Amino acid sequence: MSKLEDFLSQNDEMEIVEAIRIAEGKTSGEIRVHIESSNQGNIEQHVLEVFHLLKMDNTKLLNGVLIYVAVKDKSFAIYGDKGINDVVSNDFWDVTKDVMLSYFKDGKFKQGLIEGILKTGEQLETYFPCLHDDIDELSNEISKS
Ligand code: CA
Ligand code: CA
Repeated sequence: MSKLEDFLSQNDEMEIVEAIRIAEGKTSGEIRVHIESSNQGNIEQHVLEVFHLLKMDNTKLLNGVLIYVAVKDKSFAIYGDKGINDVVSNDFWDVTKDVMLSYFKDGKFKQGLIEGILKTGEQLETYFPCLHDDIDELSNEISKS
């Protein structure tokens, strides 16, 4: 599993986008998935660049969450914007990451992403409950580079 095109089927992608829609139904937070082949370096730093590139730092409540996967590197990261990181404990994302990792280890990438998305939605719900006039600030489509 090293080619970006083989990582997720079109059907997989549809299911993932649907999971994002469901997760965002519980929270004002915005979740995006970005996949690429390799980040050639420091993933923690790179995920910040991608976050900015996708304009995910433009949400009103600063509550965007990026799930980033580097397929060839077999690495992934979750990054939450300032609004989230200011209010949650440091291990906020670890639970989600562990769940995802348990699926990824078995090569179940679609399921791992979906579980990660739904889990993120649940966690966001506590701090950013859904607003009745909620708008979809960031596209739910998977982005790739
Ligand atoms: Ca929203
Ligand atoms: Ca969205």
